[in-house]
Order: sequence, then structure tokens, then C-alpha cells
Amino acid sequence: MGMEIKRPYVIAGPCSVESRRQLEAAVEALKTLPQVAMVRCGVWKPRTRPGGFDGLGETALQWMSELKRENPELRFCCEVAWPEHVELALAYGIDAVWVGARTTANPFMVQELSEALRGTALPVWVKNAPSPDVRLWIGAIERFKGVGLTDVGAIHRGFDVFKNEGFRNAPLWEVPIELRRAMPEVPILCDPSHIAGRREPLQMLSQTAMDLGFDGLMVEVHPCPQEALTDAQQQITPETLRQLLDGLVMPHTDTAVADDQLRLLREQIDTVDRQMLQLYAARLDLSRQIAQVKAQGNLAVFQPKRWDALLRQRLESARQLGLSPDFVKEIFEKIHVESVRVQEQELHPAKTNSPLTENI
Ligand code: PEP
Ligand code: MN
Repeated sequence: MGMEIKRPYVIAGPCSVESRRQLEAAVEALKTLPQVAMVRCGVWKPRTRPGGFDGLGETALQWMSELKRENPELRFCCEVAWPEHVELALAYGIDAVWVGARTTANPFMVQELSEALRGTALPVWVKNAPSPDVRLWIGAIERFKGVGLTDVGAIHRGFDVFKNEGFRNAPLWEVPIELRRAMPEVPILCDPSHIAGRREPLQMLSQTAMDLGFDGLMVEVHPCPQEALTDAQQQITPETLRQLLDGLVMPHTDTAVADDQLRLLREQIDTVDRQMLQLYAARLDLSRQIAQVKAQGNLAVFQPKRWDALLRQRLESARQLGLSPDFVKEIFEKIHVESVRVQEQELHPAKTNSPLTENI
């Protein structure tokens, strides 16, 4: 990103611009928060179902440009989903744009948008697509960079998956972590509002994002959240945002101060990981031998009773060792799937690309 990113870089503002008064009240309060670098404004709202409030469009842009004139130090951004949105955002002097989750999911739209942005210097923030496929996210960022934009960042807004576990969109932190590994130069903000879908977890999610080395946050803020026309459950007042930001503990991203202590512990972690991998390999070797026995007896690869007994026993051991049962269950589910795949491969070498063994 060519633009200055001072951690935490905070973008805050209403989910949707609803009236001149609402926007003005939000802006007046947000400009007293030193951490807020930019005001977000929903101008065109992508609604999952028709019939809801879908944004004020150009009227909202008009108010944003007026407020910008009155407060030249303020920066504004809005979501764009369509080349015409880009043209209007440029015409009204908007400082940056973001691309919504449902747009990122569609490479045709992303390509159209990037063509509309070609030759401009507009910073673009790319939200992840709703599905946890890091390649869609990377691909969208590549398309924007591909038309010569230099200020391209990412926003993690959570994922629509089968087990959301209390979130509107599951955080699946491993996905933005993978994005950081693939594109270390791209700044990443966390949007805790759309991950949580409610107010209570915002502080905890924001802290996790900072602990993971995210560059900042995008938070939905409304002067009167209960009356919001969109996302009323998750928006917070500017005062709550102030408390949230003041409560954030900002970790150092540079580890130099503790390098010696870290090195010793990391060496031990490396040893434990090596041992774990050797044990996984030994376990799979046993699975292959089991496959031979099953083949001789023409027995089914998947034995539900054995799987149930094994899982119960492992969860009991996990409890005794103070390990999280969810974590241990997930690991053993993965180990079991791999064991089934390896046994299938052993029994039917010609069918190793069967849908079962490919996709589970
Ligand atoms: C938004 O930021 O207002 C929005 C619609 O979010 P998302 O694209 O993440 O659903
Ligand atoms: Mn919203």
C-alpha cells in the first residue's frame, strides 16, 4: 500500500448513510477519535433479499462531499460494486473505496471494477468473499494490482460456513493468516462488525486481530444504533468505539526484543512438531496394514462403532490433559478422514480420484 498505514488504521462509520443528520452526527463524533483515519459510508447496500433499505446512492455522496469540504482533514470511503459506482465516487471526490464480500466472489465483477479504476490512484480495500476460499481474495487483489493500482488492501469480514458458532460470519483466522503469508505486503484490516453480527464480541475480536498482526479495523458506527436501517444489532455508538479503541492492547510486530528467549522455545516447538509428524506417519502406516486385513475379510473401510469408541476415548484423554475437546475432535476428524483416504487408496489404487477420497 502506498498510503500511510499507522497501526491501528481505523475506518469507522455507519453501515448505511440514512440521513444528513445521521451522517453529520456520526462524523462530528468520529472526528474526535484520533485513531479514526477514515469514515466508512454505505451508499449502495447489497441486500440479500429485495425490499429492504438499499442505500441513498448519489444523495449520500453529495452529503459526504459537503462534509468533506467542511472538514478538509477527514477522509471518506464507500463500497463500490459497479463501474458506475466508481465513476460517481470519483466525481464526488471520495478518498477510497471498498469492494464488498459478494462482489469479491464474482471475478467478472472484480474485473469490470478494476477496469473502471484503471488510471486512477484510488485506494481499494478488498473484503474477502463469503466462502472461505483464499484464492478468490488473492485473485481479486491481483486484478486490482493488475491495472496498476498500488494502494490495495484487504478486509477480513468473516465467512459464511456451515458451523458459524455464534458469529454472523465465522472468523476462520487461518484464512487471513494464509493471505498474509501469500501477500505479505498487503495490509489487512479486520471488520469485527460483520464477523460478530452483534455488539458484545467486538472488543474481543478486535483484540485478536491486533494480536495476529492485523493493520487495523473497519467498524460500523451509528449515532443511534438501535434505530439503524441496516445492521442495527452490530453497530456501536462513537463513544463505544472510543472505549473499544482505548482498550486495545497493541503488540509489537517486531520480535527483536525477545529473540533469544523465543529462539529456545521455538527450537523445542520444532522438535515437538517433528515428533508429531513422525507419529502421524507411523499411524498411517498402521492404517495401511489395517486396510490389508479388511481386504482379506472383505470388511468395510469405515467402521462406525470403532470410530465412535475411538473418538469418545480420545475426548476423555483430551479432558484429562486439559485440551479443548473441540480442538481434539477436529484433529481426530481430520486424522480419520486421512486414514479412510489412505485405506481406500490401498484397497482400490486405480480409484484414488474418487469423489469420496478427493473431497473429504
Ligand atoms: C458492509 O460493509 O456494509 C457490507 C455490506 O459488508 P460485506 O460486504 O462484508 O457483507
Ligand atoms: Mn453492514
